[in-house]
Order: sequence, then C-alpha cells, then structure tokens
Amino acid sequence: LSRRLDLPHGNDEVGHLVATLDEMLDRLDRAFQRQRQFTADASHEFRTPLAVIRSQAEAALQRQHSPAEYRQALEIIRDQAEWMGNLVAKLLLLARSDDRMEQMEMEPLDLGELVEGVTAEFQGMAAEKGLRLVKKIKENVVVRGDQTRLTQLLANLVDNAIKYTPEGEVVISLERRGRQALLQVQDTGVGIPEEHLAHIFERFYRVDKARSRAEGGFGLGLAICDWIVRAHNGKIEVESAVGRGTTFKVWLPLNEGLH
Ligand code: ADP
Repeated sequence: LSRRLDLPHGNDEVGHLVATLDEMLDRLDRAFQRQRQFTADASHEFRTPLAVIRSQAEAALQRQHSPAEYRQALEIIRDQAEWMGNLVAKLLLLARSDDRMEQMEMEPLDLGELVEGVTAEFQGMAAEKGLRLVKKIKENVVVRGDQTRLTQLLANLVDNAIKYTPEGEVVISLERRGRQALLQVQDTGVGIPEEHLAHIFERFYRVDKARSRAEGGFGLGLAICDWIVRAHNGKIEVESAVGRGTTFKVWLPLNEGLH
C-alpha cells in the first residue's frame, strides 16, 4: 500500500483524482497500522497472566504441597483468570463497537440522577483513600442517551480520578451550557504530562504502565469512554496539569423539545 500512484498530472481533474486516491491510500495504511498495533498489544496483554497461570500450575504439580500452598496457587490462578476475563469483555465491546453491532438504547435521561447514582457507588472507594468525593448538580439536565453506557462512561472517569489522585478531592459537576449538557470530573491528582494528552483515548495507551497495571488498568477505559461519547454525538475533552490535577469534560446534546 505504500506504493504511490505515478500518473501524469497533465490536467487538474486527473491531478485531483490522484491526490484523492493518495489520501485514501494513506488512510487505509494508517487503519491497517492501527489494527496491527491493536492485535500486537492485545496479544501482549494476555501473555503475562497466561505465564503466571502456567508457572503456578507447574510449580503446584511438581511436588507435594501443603493445603495452604495449594490454596495460594489457586487464588493467584483465579485472579489472573479474572483479569483475563475482564480484558476479553473490554476487547469484545470495542470490537462490537467498531462493527457498529453495539447499539445504543436511546431514551430521555436525567443526568442528575445518573450523577447521584455513580457518586453513591464510589463513596466507599474514595473514603478508603481518604479522598472527598463531591457532586455539584447545578440544574436539571436531560439528554437522550443510553443509561447503561452513560453510567459506564461516568463510572470510568470517576474510577480513574480516584485511582490517579493520592490526596484531595474529586468533584463531579453537571450543568447546561447553551444547547449542551456539560458533565465534568475534576481531580487534584497526579495529572497527565502535556505530551501524553493527545494519546490517552487510544486503545492500550497508558501514561505510566507500572502504575496503571498496579491499579488494575488495561488502558482501554478511556477508549471505551470516547466511543460512548461519540455514539451520543458528544465530545470529550481533557485538561491537565502535572502534580495539580486533571479535568475531563463531557459535552452531550440536550434532549430538546420533548419536555
Ligand atoms: P487505565 O486502565 O490504564 O486507567 P484508561 O484508558 O482509563 O486506562 O486511561 C489511560 C491513561 O490515562 C491511564 O493509564 C493514565 O495514565 C491516564 N489517566 C486517565 N485518567 C487520569 C486521571 N484522572 N489522572 C491522571 N491520569 C489519568
């Protein structure tokens, strides 16, 4: 595909056609490259847990162990299998979204209720880390959306905010701006260096691999958020300052004319 068309550029129309074809070939090239990278990254992610499962099983089979030792090996195997199961679920979701097989169930949705629910769900996790989790629902905001997916979106953002914030607070805020709903998740965490900001919505992209893995992350959460927001004709943005914190902004069209 890297071959370029070498046709006479005698007249404008042919020149234009050649340029268009060139552009299409470039885009195909990039799409194939992304696909190859995705497959390579996914395979790589499976390798570590598989190696752990195999070595635990082999060590257990080699000689007699105490019941406690067998138990420990089985627990490690179970945890790794669970990790792989999570990974498969996320990969399947992304694959189905690529093929447009994953349909959104759109209905009028009160985002305030959604914020209430997610805040309540994460109170415990925030408290465990000594973080304050605050919600600021400024007004009544209704969009047309898929409740399960938008809950998943907000939960992903709040989960990240808590994971990457050693101290301080996480604020979830909701308001209207013109004809858009604006949902923000703001934290006082580690922040994201400028050079990484453009990439964090890519699949398997992690700023700090060791930290993310220790927290149980695959680098797929924000890719899933990006898909959910785009399927709602919305937009997701990020602002961050290293050592000061990060803000994710989600813009969604309001459900107008129906209430
Ligand atoms: P992960 O499962 O690794 O958290 P995500 O796709 O959710 O994957 O996020 C991608 C990367 O973006 C993370 O690995 C992390 O480096 C960075 N990131 C996401 N949210 C935040 C945040 N609130 N503060 C700092 N870094 C973040």
